[in-house]
Amino acid sequence: MPMAAPEIPSLANEDWIKDVRFKTVMEALRKAGGEALAVGGCVRDALLGQAASDIDVATTLTPDAVVKAGTKAGLGVHLTGEEHGTITLVAGPEGERKAFEVTTLRVDSETFGRHARVSFTAGWQEDAQRRDFTMNALYCDANGNVHDLVGGYKDLRARTVRFVGTPENRIQEDYLRILRFYRFHARFGEGAPDTAGRAACKMARAGLDTLSRERMRQEFFKLLVAPGAVSTILLMEEDGVLAHILPGAASVSALENLAALELSQNNVCDPFLRLMALYPNLDAAIARTALVLTNDEMKRLKAVASAPPVSPRFRPAELDRLLYWFGNDTIIAALLLAWAGSSDAPDDEAWRVSLVQAQNWVRPEFPLSGNDLQALGIEEGPELGKQLQALEDYWIAAEFVPERDVLLARLKDKN
Ligand code: ATP
Ligand code: MG
Repeated sequence: MPMAAPEIPSLANEDWIKDVRFKTVMEALRKAGGEALAVGGCVRDALLGQAASDIDVATTLTPDAVVKAGTKAGLGVHLTGEEHGTITLVAGPEGERKAFEVTTLRVDSETFGRHARVSFTAGWQEDAQRRDFTMNALYCDANGNVHDLVGGYKDLRARTVRFVGTPENRIQEDYLRILRFYRFHARFGEGAPDTAGRAACKMARAGLDTLSRERMRQEFFKLLVAPGAVSTILLMEEDGVLAHILPGAASVSALENLAALELSQNNVCDPFLRLMALYPNLDAAIARTALVLTNDEMKRLKAVASAPPVSPRFRPAELDRLLYWFGNDTIIAALLLAWAGSSDAPDDEAWRVSLVQAQNWVRPEFPLSGNDLQALGIEEGPELGKQLQALEDYWIAAEFVPERDVLLARLKDKN
């Protein structure tokens, strides 16, 4: 086990360190004779005073031994990541279960004469060396003592995303690290990104084309909603990296405006809306392939693209009509995107009023159906459809006010 770094604040008072479920998992691994440390995002985030997401644990135990240790301690055991040496252990009573991804450090094979023996060695330094950035290679034991093998704490304090080892080499091993470099900079970085890291990302950017689009999508969607997304995406555009993620004309200023609107209008930060703002003329087919868009996302994209242009000069009744035909979600998106694409301020009153109208809008139910018309003797068929539509048009033009009896009376007058 590496030495703890006393100069780094203890995480002993973190909720997740004190959590019995974490203690149970760590104790199970210890009892089985293994060393175990929490690692990566959970340690990094805790040191920044941010809430932990997933808890990853690295251990000297082999995956088999982790399974045994978990079973013996009465934990849930899942083999989903077994091929990467990851076993998921689940602790806690029903309704409060928590999963921990436990990954074996490293596998070494040794040959003794004719007998091949596989041994798993406790290579904590190698484990740290294999991680992408120094701030992602911080470890923490069951008592909250932090272990820092590659100087991650200093970089974390300085808010610098720094590759572990030589950036060029680390990028060649896995081109996704280019995207991760920008993503973690957008999330944690302050000031300019590490010069050597950025230069290496820029140089190696064509390697992004060899990656699984699924992996890229995951990173890019996280990047889009990171606190520093706007300034980082600007860097990515300058570095020629953005075009390898999604080709097409990007408008970082529209993204910037949308981010400001989200703040001023208390709107949730939605990665897909941000994507649509960044690429105002997004080609659906290209985007679908490049970012493995889901069917729902394709629907959203097409709905917004086919909605008519919206304007803050619309009268409320006009906007109501659009809302009736296109729905809140689409019109809210169209309003935010049009606002972000304009030069109007993020507290512009006319846009704000339209947005609030769209947010509060509840779709009224057209009070008639085909059955009502049939009851009046109109036969099923195109003529009935036409009459029903005419009534609906009238009802919409009258701002959804006329009620059922009024509409029926109108129908009787006509027929
Ligand atoms: P997040 O909160 O965004 O999930 P994270 O640090 O947990 O941040 P993950 O992508 O979940 O990021 O990865 C967990 C850890 O695994 C990282 O902290 C890092 O140590 C390591 N890691 C993940 N992907 C890579 C990679 N491509 N190359 C090297 N190390 C990686
Ligand atoms: Mg994570």
